[in-house]
Amino acid sequence: MNAHITQGLLLLLASFFQARALSLSTRIFYDSSNHMHRDIQYHPEQSARIDACLDALSSYMRTTSQHLDLIDVSPVGQVSQKQQNWFREPFPHADLEYARQILIDIHSAEFVESLETKCRESRQRRIDEGKSALGFIGYLDDDTYITTESFHVCLRAAACWIECANLVLNSKRNFSFALTRPPGHHATKTLPNGFCTFNFAAAASVHATKHPGCEKVTILDWDVHYGQGVADIVEDLPNIRYVSMHQVPAFPYTGQSRGVHGKHKNILTVPISPDSTWACGYHELFTEKVLPFCSSPDWEPDLIIVCSGYDALSSDELASCSLVAEDYGKMTRLLRDHLGDNAKIMFGLEGGKCPQVQHMCLKCIDYTEFTLQG
Ligand SMILES: [Zn+2]
Repeated sequence: MNAHITQGLLLLLASFFQARALSLSTRIFYDSSNHMHRDIQYHPEQSARIDACLDALSSYMRTTSQHLDLIDVSPVGQVSQKQQNWFREPFPHADLEYARQILIDIHSAEFVESLETKCRESRQRRIDEGKSALGFIGYLDDDTYITTESFHVCLRAAACWIECANLVLNSKRNFSFALTRPPGHHATKTLPNGFCTFNFAAAASVHATKHPGCEKVTILDWDVHYGQGVADIVEDLPNIRYVSMHQVPAFPYTGQSRGVHGKHKNILTVPISPDSTWACGYHELFTEKVLPFCSSPDWEPDLIIVCSGYDALSSDELASCSLVAEDYGKMTRLLRDHLGDNAKIMFGLEGGKCPQVQHMCLKCIDYTEFTLQG
């Protein structure tokens, strides 16, 4: 198989561990129509990333008694997997409209409406020309493409992140996962960037701070790239902290010095050298720099949002760090131990590609079993 996927699978492993510890089912949201956002040529950000994760989850549920709920939010089609824990729950119009309003809050009406209009008009033009409604539009920058359906795919992705925040904040779950694409953490207030159109982590965090009882949110970004878009948006929001571990030098070529930034001192950048491994760099910086900024006696967040990219793996084609699958489980376990058992954590997929789909599926599942027994 030559498809490249995200290492979101690793996060799922961590989620299994978390769910088991809390004796609660884990809800994982995905959109089976995400493939309508796609390039016309090879692009590392592609729907095969999600497909591979779902295949791995399907296998996992067949072979274990772990209780997972997989929620397909696509408005069309049927759940293809014949398993009892797969559901299709399209968002009602009001939820999507709410997500749209949150995106306007964090970007601007002009930004959101510009993409929406571009997609709608292009779709209508194709229909008028007798073509299928789905078509490629083009690139918004060097890396970020859109199709006629991209706006709606991204809107559902935003709604998934918001729903995950709701689930954990309402105490129905202590863990939830938005298995969505495209990623979002590079999208700034005013610009799509680095495969990202809208910023979902920022959207979920801003939504969360409107939720009763949620005063503070920390966004932890362990994607190997700096989420400069999140920093750009939350810099003005004192109730939200953002901490990023990322390879330097690497795209987007900012966040290159370690330190606290912003007028509210709410952004921490923790650069990692390209040859970092868990033992050499990651472990020390994660425990000594990242975790204390996530939560401390003078900053006790009501929600942790993890921007979960898996591109620090040694197998990734877009970065040079050398984590292995188990290291993401270690970070998840350290985070939970640092926060305590009542911590509310949601994860959302960011970057990560791997050419060895089957190998990674098996590796991740093996690791899950190991973790559950440990
Ligand atoms: Zn990345």
